[in-house]
Amino acid sequence: MHTPPTSVATLRAALTGLLLLPGDAGYDEARAPWLRVIDQHPALVVEAANVADLVLAITYARTQGLPLGVQATGHGIAKACDGGLLLKLDKLNAIDLDTATRRVRMGPGVSWKDLLTQTQPHGLVGLSGQVSSVGVIGYTLGGGIGWLVRKHGECCEYVVGATVVLASGEIVHASATEHPDLFWGLRGGGGNLGVVAELELQLVAEPHDMLAGLRWYPMARVAELLPLYRDWAATLSQATSTVFRLMRVPDAPQFPASIRGKSACIVGLCHADPATQAQVLASLAVFGEPALDQVKMMAYPAIAAAEPASHESSAITYDQAGFLRELSDEAIALLVEIGRSEFPPLLQLEILQLGGHLTPSVAGPLPSQASRTPTAAFMLHTVTMPEQSGWEEVKQVTEETFARLAPVLTGELYYNYLRGDQQVQVAAAFTESSWLRLREVKRRYDPENLFRFNLNVEPAE
Ligand SMILES: Cc1cc2nc3c(=O)[nH]c(=O)nc-3n(C[C@H](O)[C@H](O)[C@H](O)COP(=O)(O)OP(=O)(O)OC[C@H]3O[C@@H](n4cnc5c(N)ncnc54)[C@H](O)[C@@H]3O)c2cc1C
Repeated sequence: MHTPPTSVATLRAALTGLLLLPGDAGYDEARAPWLRVIDQHPALVVEAANVADLVLAITYARTQGLPLGVQATGHGIAKACDGGLLLKLDKLNAIDLDTATRRVRMGPGVSWKDLLTQTQPHGLVGLSGQVSSVGVIGYTLGGGIGWLVRKHGECCEYVVGATVVLASGEIVHASATEHPDLFWGLRGGGGNLGVVAELELQLVAEPHDMLAGLRWYPMARVAELLPLYRDWAATLSQATSTVFRLMRVPDAPQFPASIRGKSACIVGLCHADPATQAQVLASLAVFGEPALDQVKMMAYPAIAAAEPASHESSAITYDQAGFLRELSDEAIALLVEIGRSEFPPLLQLEILQLGGHLTPSVAGPLPSQASRTPTAAFMLHTVTMPEQSGWEEVKQVTEETFARLAPVLTGELYYNYLRGDQQVQVAAAFTESSWLRLREVKRRYDPENLFRFNLNVEPAE
């Protein structure tokens, strides 16, 4: 591109995709993120239809001094792009699967649902999270901890290469041998270094259905169940990932009277080893008779499909996460106290078992499983639905909950589960040396911090 557009009219004429202004049909739909925590009002929205559109939009925002927001699905919106250019990626959803190499190249609009639908029939999966409406690239750039984390690790470890449009408008390819510093930064540094126009991901072979799902128990049993869960989890191989949830059960007919509309404890698992599934199923007996049993054999995509958020087009949630050193007696006592208080207005508190797969080397800026494992055996994550209470109450309860848990948390944070109002804490998602290196890489590829409407890594000074 020789002469960048200097007005909305010339930008619109140069684009293949749509440009929407306030008042245009489709503007309100386009500006709305999936996570309705932020109500943003960009001056214009560009719905990119190809890589050239990405270059045009980025160059226009930079040369006009406009704030630039980048949005695939809006599950991870961190900051309102008010008065700026919102670059939408959701129309760029091409998928190119190579079953011979078990690799897939995809555009930035691809969600986990889209990807797994194409790869799973070939016995191949990507390391998705718990909810399949999330965008593959946004999730992977921030780490990617999901149901197969103990068997295979975090998704960002499986990035093979990426085509990136930089703040300068230049298109570069990053891999282990091309722009290796950019490649390193993309594997966990979020959307800070440029817009990924195409990502190449290594898939893993998981040809069999898995033993997976949730077992629900009345909250009255929480003090008994948590120690049982700790002991049971310690016996499992890395083929099994597990969760323990404290949850407010919806008042809906599919739930039995003993838990319907009340709070409950959940033991959940995903076991990816057909040779030992009977053993693992039998081992669940230690928890006694559940109020509701949803554990069964299922194809990998069906695990995420069971989560309501995989289907609902939008939700207002407020979440926070940390890491537990271990499920110590002290941690269990605190969790029991929180569970027994019925934790209004929290919807869910989840402990996700880590450990297992150990990465041989740190391939990106996030702490690897290997470096986390000695200090963090579980990730702890709370989800709140503010629509059921006021925002202030929700924030206060979340903060109070984490303050109570502080003595048993490691102090580390997880990039993908940071919220926009936690900007000052972004550094806590990285080790100190990785943080410094990431800021250097940021300075090299985005010195003006054009990509700052995210969980921001500021360029080194
Ligand atoms: C319901 C729900 C469930 C979740 N479950 C999990 C889970 O199980 N495990 C987990 O690890 N995380 C999980 N997350 C967190 C999620 O991975 C992050 O919020 C992630 O950033 C979402 O990416 P997105 O593209 O869907 O969202 P977006 O809001 O569109 O993007 C989020 C950020 O990524 C950047 N970005 C997106 N695409 C690109 C691109 N192509 N190039 C450059 N930057 C880009 C954007 O600039 C933005 O800052 C969950 C989030 C929600 C809301």
